Amino acid sequence: MQIPCTDIELALLKKIALAAKELNVPCYAIGGFVRDKLIGRATKDVDIVCVGDGIVLAEKVAGMFFPKPEVHFFKNFGTAQIKTAQMEIEFVGARKESYDFSSRKPAVENGSIEDDQNRRDFTINALAISLNEQDYGQLIDPFNGILDLQNKIIKTPLEPGITFSDDPLRMMRAIRFSAQLQFTIEANTLEAIAQYAERIKIVSSERIADELNKILLTAKPSIGFDLLFKTGLLDIIFPAFAQLSGAEYIDGHGHKDNFYHTLQVVDNICKNTDDLWLRWAAVLHDIAKPATKKFEEGHGWTFHGHEVIGGRMVPKIFTKLRLPQNEKMRFVRKMVELHLRPISLTKENITDSAIRRLLFDAGDDFEALMTLCEADITSKNKQKVKRYLENFEMVRARCAEVEEKDHLRNWQPPITGEMIMETFGLPPSKEVGLIKDAIRNAILDGDIENNLAAATQLMLDKATEMGLKTRP
Ligand code: ATP
Repeated sequence: MQIPCTDIELALLKKIALAAKELNVPCYAIGGFVRDKLIGRATKDVDIVCVGDGIVLAEKVAGMFFPKPEVHFFKNFGTAQIKTAQMEIEFVGARKESYDFSSRKPAVENGSIEDDQNRRDFTINALAISLNEQDYGQLIDPFNGILDLQNKIIKTPLEPGITFSDDPLRMMRAIRFSAQLQFTIEANTLEAIAQYAERIKIVSSERIADELNKILLTAKPSIGFDLLFKTGLLDIIFPAFAQLSGAEYIDGHGHKDNFYHTLQVVDNICKNTDDLWLRWAAVLHDIAKPATKKFEEGHGWTFHGHEVIGGRMVPKIFTKLRLPQNEKMRFVRKMVELHLRPISLTKENITDSAIRRLLFDAGDDFEALMTLCEADITSKNKQKVKRYLENFEMVRARCAEVEEKDHLRNWQPPITGEMIMETFGLPPSKEVGLIKDAIRNAILDGDIENNLAAATQLMLDKATEMGLKTRP
């Protein structure tokens, strides 16, 4: 075996080889498993190609385990999967593919191992290892993928224009692998992506979102996003992000390029969190800057309200990108809306009330918000960065102090809407909201104590002022 496998993997491959021998079908480990083993990257699944029926081979392999794992198969695709305690194994019959212009779903027919390697997207993904008796462990590398692995190059095995036009998802995959592995996309391959970028329109939003998420989960997502931008893909799949690019000048006053600023913020935050949604918040924190941009005489460029407008854009962007419409989206929106708040608290003479409001609004996401704010510091001036970070430390300290005193992070005002409705015999109405807000604001502003007695008194005072009477 020419690839460095663990004992468990070697035993597994031997088992598959034995099953294939008994069925008399040639079989190979192929694709990501071989690639990742050769570069020492962690692997979680192995793809097996056989020149025969992949489902039959899967059944045979499953029968060699005790207890026998379930075989999940997809008759239409001729693929099967088994999950053992250590690994997921995917089986498929070797195939030849031909494409129709309108779809990325090919017509498929049975083929040889060469045909199967020809349909692979990149030379580094076309590597196969023989599991056959006569040349067990031999690397089969028709496109010199091993050299591209060594030179850290992503390149299509066949003419890149055809490869990408056939299945445009491969353009996203090229960029995603480049970001994940920190490999360079070979010049012709990169040029073909730019040339065929429009073809991405035939790919489903779900598949695109999947690739975007994978890029965002890399150590340095700017690599992937910059390539998406430079090839023109970003403008098609996520125009609001591409539109952050560029700096405008009036009377010699420019503003920073918000696209590259955002990429820096994303890279910064990735050093401090693996949370996909907090990373999305970094992508989207300034998304409304183009929509709110103004040049004000004597003031320069302003982006007033970009956090609020940006927050409103989040659900629309999530819908368009087929990202979830659930609490993850609400979290991202909240981060975008609040991302300027801690900065505003670094000024002098900040009242307890402003701190309380931040704690109340951020709730359990306070730490996540601070992580975003710290990542948002992209100045090249080391002194400035140091000063900003110190300021944030002060905000954290003040927040910790107030939190200890007032416990506002998961706080709910002592009087609920139901209690107000009950006391005054009111249906759900504007009046109930007004009283609730008055109580909450008075406590957050420190005008009354945070307890039931003080809140009840304020409720009664406010109701009298509004001409309401308690229920007899
Ligand atoms: P990862 O698991 O990180 O996504 P992978 O290379 O294992 O990496 P899979 O999507 O699991 O990716 O695909 C397995 C293999 O199938 C690839 O290595 C490649 O050979 C082939 N492949 C996958 N998608 C395509 C595609 N769109 N066009 C051509 N070949 C593909």
